[in-house]
Amino acid sequence: ARLLVAAPGLAAQEVAGRIEGYPADHIPAGHFGKGVYFRLTGKAPFERLIYPPPIPGALGTHYRKDLGGQAVFGPDLVWVETEDYWVDPDKAAEFEGYIRRFWPSLPQGALTPDYAGIRPKLHGPGEPQPDFQLRGPEDHGIAGLMALFGIESPGLTSSLAIGEAVAEALVDD
Ligand SMILES: Cc1cc2nc3c(=O)[nH]c(=O)nc-3n(C[C@H](O)[C@H](O)[C@H](O)COP(=O)(O)OP(=O)(O)OC[C@H]3O[C@@H](n4cnc5c(N)ncnc54)[C@H](O)[C@@H]3O)c2cc1C
Repeated sequence: ARLLVAAPGLAAQEVAGRIEGYPADHIPAGHFGKGVYFRLTGKAPFERLIYPPPIPGALGTHYRKDLGGQAVFGPDLVWVETEDYWVDPDKAAEFEGYIRRFWPSLPQGALTPDYAGIRPKLHGPGEPQPDFQLRGPEDHGIAGLMALFGIESPGLTSSLAIGEAVAEALVDD
């Protein structure tokens, strides 16, 4: 291909390592930041999003209504070594404690495990969170290649801007 955009999320480091000529010392270290969600049994208590202050390394456990109108809380942040999407039901107590800081009347036992996601992070525990990395030929030396690393939250919100930046970089190349 004349142009290649590598945007494989959690596999960014692995895929770059498989591209012939990609300098290994230009592949940033990657970390897995798992986040789980819990769902509220019963009527959603609020109409609007609630974002408490961020937790170290992530935006923090927030409240939203999903498209079906049900209340969802999450995600937390746990550093993991493997891709494991299990949601531990025992975490409900930890979530209850956190949620009661902004919703003291959360009923006891009303949370059920929902789903999990894993963020492709470029920083480890306690390290400052860097920006997304859009690496082009000036970085790795391969013409026509843009390699994206660390497209974690808010990568979805930023996707149009990332797409524009990638397109501009490739057109200039
Ligand atoms: C718990 C959690 C909460 C989040 N919350 C938010 C939020 O509130 N707001 C927000 O903006 N963002 C949020 N994000 C981040 C958002 O989900 C990501 O930034 C976004 O999904 C990244 O998109 P992407 O296309 O770069 O990667 P992905 O969505 O991960 O897509 C990568 C694709 O590449 C494929 N792939 C991998 N390897 C290969 C290969 N070798 N060959 C071919 N295909 C391959 C994968 O199968 C996958 O389909 C959250 C993420 C998590 C985990």
